[in-house]
Amino acid sequence: MMAIAAQYMGHKVITLDPNPNCSAAKVSDELIVAPYDDVENLLRLAYACDVITYEFENVSAKALHEIEGCVRIPQGIRLLEITQNRRFEKEFLTNEAKVNVAPWQLVDSAEKLPEIITRKQVLKTTTGGYDGHGQVVLNADENLSAAKSLTELSECVLEDFISFEREISVIISGNGHEYVVFPLAENEHRENILHQTISPARISAEITENAYKIATSIAEKLELSGVLCVEMFLTADGQIYVNELAPRPHNSGHFTIEACDFNQFDLHIKGILGEDLPEPKLLKAAIMLNVLGQHVEAVKNLNHEHSDWHQHDYGKADAKHNRKMGHVTILTNDFDQTINEIKATKIWD
Ligand code: AMP
Repeated sequence: MMAIAAQYMGHKVITLDPNPNCSAAKVSDELIVAPYDDVENLLRLAYACDVITYEFENVSAKALHEIEGCVRIPQGIRLLEITQNRRFEKEFLTNEAKVNVAPWQLVDSAEKLPEIITRKQVLKTTTGGYDGHGQVVLNADENLSAAKSLTELSECVLEDFISFEREISVIISGNGHEYVVFPLAENEHRENILHQTISPARISAEITENAYKIATSIAEKLELSGVLCVEMFLTADGQIYVNELAPRPHNSGHFTIEACDFNQFDLHIKGILGEDLPEPKLLKAAIMLNVLGQHVEAVKNLNHEHSDWHQHDYGKADAKHNRKMGHVTILTNDFDQTINEIKATKIWD
């Protein structure tokens, strides 16, 4: 989707990906098939390009340091290092950006666990976690053995479980000195995987403004170029906790493709190129649903009854259970009615 945005703006796109059948292969001028830490091939990419962008936080930061003198990497390597490691991320959010995060502490060995788990908490590995992998919810002694195994994998952070009312995210784009936000997204996760995004989020203007301010202060500290997603928890009494950062266009911003005048991919490309950034406008409210492997067959039949729902297929070969295969965006004048229509399909039950 990022490549498509770059292409229509007239840029050439070369993609480096270990998978020859990756989604971007179909929309790139050239594909370099190589691991993300293959310095020789990264150098090939660097010499062929004016600007490099990453859209996956497990790209090797070490390898990017090897090529940084040869090409512009506007998002920066530090942002990648921060978002690759929950400890660095929390330290940055707490000490530099000075935003609210769930109270947390570092755990480097299993022995200490029984004495430090005093309430409902979440243990997360500092590296390698995604979509709920590498984390476990703990309540006193419950799940202690799963927690012990996590600490054997890597250093962990132990954070308070936040009884949130809603999960929200701000997609923000920067060009190094100015920052624009997309309409606030309200997210529902199932099994820790994003299931649905509603925008604009059904919360007050005041809390929406607070969420934008938090995201903007993070972007300013980073002198952000390109898109950043700031995922947050919102509690019933209006408190916001920053949960996680993604240094790239994000699944919870996919609704912007149809719902906004400029989408997150457009403003990522403009941002990394240092162009002036328009304030993106919401043209119509939207609900986005992820299409996972188990939904693919049923979604194919939607077109007859719901020809006005926008279906996106990422062209991935294997429709595995819980693998993100595409998404559907529904523009709407009435969230409740659309939610009922979604329920009636029984696809996402
Ligand atoms: P993460 O990988 O940190 O984005 O976590 C995945 C999902 O787990 C989040 O979107 C939340 O639904 C849930 N979660 C993570 N951390 C917490 C927490 N401290 N309190 C409550 N729920 C959490």
